[in-house]
Amino acid sequence: MPFDLAARLAERHAAHLFRQRPLLDSPQVPLVQVDGRQLLAFCSNDYLGLANHPEVIRALQQGADKWGVGGGASHLVIGHSAPHHELEEALAAFTGRPRALLFSTGYMANLAAVTALVGQGDTVLEDRLNHASLLDAGLLSGARFSRYLHNDAVSLSNRLRKATGNTLVVTDGVFSMDGDLADLPNLCAEAKASNAWVMVDDAHGFGPLGASGGGIVEHFGLGLDDVQVLVGTLGKGFGTAGAFVAGSEELIETLIQFARPYIYTTSQPPAVACATLKSLELLRTEGWRREHLNKLVARFRQGAAEIGLSLMDSPTPIQPILIGDSERALKLSALLKERGLLVGAIRPPTVPVGSARLRVTLSAAHSEAQLEQLLAALAECWPQVRDDA
Ligand code: PMP
Repeated sequence: MPFDLAARLAERHAAHLFRQRPLLDSPQVPLVQVDGRQLLAFCSNDYLGLANHPEVIRALQQGADKWGVGGGASHLVIGHSAPHHELEEALAAFTGRPRALLFSTGYMANLAAVTALVGQGDTVLEDRLNHASLLDAGLLSGARFSRYLHNDAVSLSNRLRKATGNTLVVTDGVFSMDGDLADLPNLCAEAKASNAWVMVDDAHGFGPLGASGGGIVEHFGLGLDDVQVLVGTLGKGFGTAGAFVAGSEELIETLIQFARPYIYTTSQPPAVACATLKSLELLRTEGWRREHLNKLVARFRQGAAEIGLSLMDSPTPIQPILIGDSERALKLSALLKERGLLVGAIRPPTVPVGSARLRVTLSAAHSEAQLEQLLAALAECWPQVRDDA
């Protein structure tokens, strides 16, 4: 039978891989109203707690009063407003790069950057755990596409030796499902030795990492020479929406001229750019948010280790608890929900088969007492799931 969608959906159910969208009826972290219940959430990417900041909300409201709601058209037609431009200049200054280009989503920024830079006859080399948007971008580009072993400079080097044409090495900065950092010093050195360019998608690094929240490149002290294409998203640490690519003058002009996912889409609402200008200022200057967050991360790792949970090598607010089996991951998530805690179970195909996990994300909006509540619930629930093995 053609298009047997019912069978396809039933198969997904049977494999414990069926996904549901929790219906949120409140703002983001820490306390949320979901499916009619109040829960303490540990699954938002609002790492610095800026999504509900009153000054960011006010900037959005004032922006809407002044600029209206819709972007109205693509940037190249009449959709490029003064707040977009001002934000691009502020992001260029923040990242210490000549220029930045604003996008409506990170998914599109990644598609745009990769497809504008490489095509037939070129090579794109990606970490095998890269975000789906980067993998999709590599496939869409038409370049020779190969994935190297996770964070493995030797595996990258072997592939670089066989690369042809312009070669782009692409990696997450902070891996979105594991929370670990890309080994950029070594990966960049390999790329440089082969005249390849490096593109880093630091969606989860901007905000939590670096002395002023400048992400993994600030953390490692890397420049334009090491990472030629730097992507940040605005829906996570910045607490708003959209994304940017930062790099050389020529890179940004190339994207404006050639990147189809940039050219053929409506600009983001200008009021969102107004809100991001405010959240960028808070992200940069309110260092206490990073300090508090780092304390929460350290306490979570210590408490989780005491319970006997299997953590990953993550110094970031992404703290996955490795379970393995999808059904048991769902069970732990359900047990926590019964106790008023919301932590999402992440299953294949988002993560490799056999590595289902609970993806705990911490935020500067969480109090120490709320974190203790999570640890106490995990101590109570984990033995019930562990003993199912
Ligand atoms: N890159 C990474 C590493 C991500 O985690 C995400 C979002 N989950 C994206 C890109 C996509 O960003 P956006 O949500 O703005 O499309």
